Amino acid sequence: CVLVSLMDVTERNRTQEALQQAQAELAHVTRLTTLGELTASIAHEVNQPLAAIVTNGEACLRWLAYRPPELEEVRGAVESMISDGVRASEVVWGLRELLKKSNPQRTLLNLNEVIEQLVLLVERELLNNRVTLRLELAPALREVFGDRVQLQQVIMNLVINGIQSMASVTDRPRELLIRSCEGEDDQLMIEVRDRGSGIDPRDMQQLFNAFFTTKPNGMGMGLSICRSIIEAHGGRIWASSNVGPGATFTFTVSPARESSS
Ligand code: ADP
Repeated sequence: CVLVSLMDVTERNRTQEALQQAQAELAHVTRLTTLGELTASIAHEVNQPLAAIVTNGEACLRWLAYRPPELEEVRGAVESMISDGVRASEVVWGLRELLKKSNPQRTLLNLNEVIEQLVLLVERELLNNRVTLRLELAPALREVFGDRVQLQQVIMNLVINGIQSMASVTDRPRELLIRSCEGEDDQLMIEVRDRGSGIDPRDMQQLFNAFFTTKPNGMGMGLSICRSIIEAHGGRIWASSNVGPGATFTFTVSPARESSS
């Protein structure tokens, strides 16, 4: 009897593992699809600092050719070149992380940093869609023990849905808010709030179902993947209609336990 139940557990663990593996693969594929859609704007995000580096480099050569050379000007230009270089490489680093096909890996994370890294990748997309982004990040947010890439994917999906929901808005500012705070029940809470078309109350129950979409070219996988990622992190995710126009998507995750407990 003990043997049988042991085998049961092994079998169940194996099924569980296979399921998690399949979910991770699916999350990876949809991440690639989303990034594919963002390619043009991400390329711009890298190109812009590179173009600035070239312009500054040319200016440096001219200043160095002066007699005497304009060393102060050169110094200023080199400083901008360094910060532009750092910026471009941060974008590429963030992109590589999201493209990497690795098994989910949990580490201690600061969700504010996860959000800020993600923002680097979507800034141009926001600009192209004339969306203003506001960040309200709680100072001293406790860390979570989670998978950086997966949590970034969740926030990216919510941000892109928010941008898309405002595509037809012309009579009010297109604003997106990402907020982090300490929520109830000792949970950390992240909110993505848009001022878009809002959610039809009849759709509310189905939003997170796989293949539910109201978009002509939608896949309907984004929110369902968000939910499985958040639930795997012991959290919850839900949607609500704003008092004004638009919708808010909120998720919670538990903070990492203190190592002493
Ligand atoms: P897709 O974006 O491919 O449709 P999702 O699973 O991300 O797939 O979203 C499912 C559906 O949920 C969308 O088609 C849309 O109807 C609704 N939805 C998601 N985000 C928002 C939002 N910010 N505002 C209004 N509706 C939304």
